[in-house]
Amino acid sequence: MSETREIGAIHVATSLLQLRYPFSVQARSASQKIARDVRSLIQILEEPVNSQVIEEAEERVHAALMQSEIKIPRTNTEEAVLVYSTARLIVERIGNPRLKEYQAETESKAVNRHLSTEKEPVVIDLCQSSLGWTVESAGSESQRAKLPLILRSFNFRIRFEDYLEVAPSFHSEKWKLINRHLDSGWVPIRRSELDRLISGRVKQLILQSTMDVPKLPMRLTEAVQRIEAEITTRIQEREPIEITGDVTTAFPPCISQMYEDSLQGKNLSHDARFALASFLLKIGMTDEDVMGVFKAAPDFVQNLAQYQVRHISSKSAGEGYTPPGCKKLQGNSLCPVYLRTASDPLCTYVLHPLAFYETRLWEISKGITDHSWYARKRKKRQNL
Ligand code: SF4
Repeated sequence: MSETREIGAIHVATSLLQLRYPFSVQARSASQKIARDVRSLIQILEEPVNSQVIEEAEERVHAALMQSEIKIPRTNTEEAVLVYSTARLIVERIGNPRLKEYQAETESKAVNRHLSTEKEPVVIDLCQSSLGWTVESAGSESQRAKLPLILRSFNFRIRFEDYLEVAPSFHSEKWKLINRHLDSGWVPIRRSELDRLISGRVKQLILQSTMDVPKLPMRLTEAVQRIEAEITTRIQEREPIEITGDVTTAFPPCISQMYEDSLQGKNLSHDARFALASFLLKIGMTDEDVMGVFKAAPDFVQNLAQYQVRHISSKSAGEGYTPPGCKKLQGNSLCPVYLRTASDPLCTYVLHPLAFYETRLWEISKGITDHSWYARKRKKRQNL
């Protein structure tokens, strides 16, 4: 059943809005009207008439696992709004952090895709009513034409504190507040950027939420078991490495310095934290061990660190984040060899800290301490 509500001059079918945006205030209240908590959700799902909700939720989790497109529920009753919560329930019951990352990523992408088809007032309403953000339209094209040239392509403006809720988790330079125009606390923003912030927030909300899941009835347990069986073939668990003396000895000078500074509780810059966390994850440290490295930081906040490390970790596992290379680290004043405060002959033969690490680890495993072979086997790549 669908009613329409008016947002500005736009009529939106509420049920469609609920199904597209499960984080919206409309979706949450519709869902709570049917099932006020996890236990009542499970009870409702036990009713044979709602078996399609479980079926579609399982498909939704499966799509997340395969990292394919999440579709709008087909269920033609008001229970359709429960498909998302049931999919979340299944993932929380399984308790695999990588599956949760996949779910957060695919749900976020689905939201981004739907947002790209919405009219401006719908997007503003979602920001305000569902995320509590203060966002305003920057006016029509003709109104914006009167603005300074630099501001004309920005369709919206958002309060900087709301911008900062999500933007720091994006690693492109353009998201850094220092690279944005700031006017009395407002950040001008393009439509595609606002969509990205919203979907980024959706990802955060999933990653940060937890559910106390009681014992599940048969039909849900079977769905959980089917997904679990798929996980073993789809998600290859990385063999965690143990941080031994050999491992840290193989760190290049840049990582070694950041690692030691972090353990000693020195405040690392954002770039240094990202470089160190992505490096440690890439060589196979667990999320928990990486968080342990940052624990001594004066501004350490458990949940935020957990979120940031998991975020980097999920991307490192796929095609996303790899640690920055030597050139980038040098540009960010994070290469002690470039700054002449440390030296290592291997640094002139590599372009990436990971290449340094792999070579040095191999040397350690073979007991090689004479580094003269670099000059015979490798071409110099950097003039340090
Ligand atoms: S040259 Fe590369 S690997 Fe060596 S310390 Fe500098 S950034 Fe690290």
